[in-house]
Amino acid sequence: MAFFEMAKTAIKTLVQRPATIRYPAESAKKTEISRGHVTIDESRCISCGSCQRTCPSQAIVVEKEAKTWQIDRLRCVVCRACVDVCPVKCLFMDTQYTAPMVTRSTETVMITYVKPVKPPEKEEGKA
Ligand code: SF4
Ligand code: SF4
Repeated sequence: MAFFEMAKTAIKTLVQRPATIRYPAESAKKTEISRGHVTIDESRCISCGSCQRTCPSQAIVVEKEAKTWQIDRLRCVVCRACVDVCPVKCLFMDTQYTAPMVTRSTETVMITYVKPVKPPEKEEGKA
């Protein structure tokens, strides 16, 4: 009896489409709960470092002086904590398909945000 069950399953799998996809030749499936990957709008980042301090896997490095934001995608566990903590909401999860990484490398983004110049305070008594 078990033999017939096994044979039935084997024949069924021969005629059905495979349950898996040929990733990375085919794009990974995207669903409503797909997390995607962390992306930054570098024109809004204020180099506060909150994302770096919050990241549980030390995947992000923010260099205030050099004006760089770096992410090591092989360290990122896609928890989304950095996105939630960013005070200016310049981090978001992008669900667009990207090719898989084949070598370890850190992605560096130059922060282009320019701090607005504070207008000089008026001296008292002057018009
Ligand atoms: S998603 Fe999580 S692990 Fe990935 S960079 Fe953000 S805080 Fe770090
Ligand atoms: S990405 Fe957001 S949390 Fe990270 S340094 Fe820039 S402003 Fe701060």
